[in-house]
Amino acid sequence: MTALPLPDAVVFDFDGLVFDSETPIFEASRSALRAIGHDITVEGWSTVIGHGEADSFHRMEAAVGSAIDQEAYAAAYAATDRSWRDTIPANPGVEALLDALRGAGVPCAIASSSPSGWIEDHLSRLGLRDRFATIANADRVHGRTKPAPDSYLLACADLGVEPARCVALEDSSPGIAAAVAAGLKVVAVPSHITVHTDLTAAHRTVPSLEHLTLAELAELVADRAA
Ligand SMILES: [Mg+2]
Repeated sequence: MTALPLPDAVVFDFDGLVFDSETPIFEASRSALRAIGHDITVEGWSTVIGHGEADSFHRMEAAVGSAIDQEAYAAAYAATDRSWRDTIPANPGVEALLDALRGAGVPCAIASSSPSGWIEDHLSRLGLRDRFATIANADRVHGRTKPAPDSYLLACADLGVEPARCVALEDSSPGIAAAVAAGLKVVAVPSHITVHTDLTAAHRTVPSLEHLTLAELAELVADRAA
């Protein structure tokens, strides 16, 4: 049996997928909300994540059930201990998958609703910056963050590849929606938070990237109609 061709590229989400920034962001956000008289559950927070910053604030208000003083919240958030930022390792399986993809000559990109500085700083800290040929971040899609398909389309355009021949790796439902709308095949990798949400729009779900092989990536983009 001949091995199936590998995807033309693999596009990674960033937050919650490359490293678990979402859990400490949830804890810092909950702490800030409590400091100004609100509260939020992990289930409520799961409706917030995966969106761009502006959209996230309105979703947080919806999850809390009342208007939030944005300045007071920002000040309370800034006062939280954020030293965790520089201590979180890459998620299990990320580096091994990147190694395997590099060995196979498959280019990798990032499509994210986060700003450039955040992504660049953490990739450099994790020693992974040179693994990604391009980063389609929030700054480059002019506010059209996930679930809009723009970041995925931009990542594929940067690489000169057809979205249908690419696989997206995502931890959240807005990200999955964005990748599906862009025409990529999507693998969901639920985080501690997004495990509470509906990720069934993905073509495949794995408990962690440790459970994803190159053969399975090839299978996802196989043209069954041929
Ligand atoms: Mg994510």
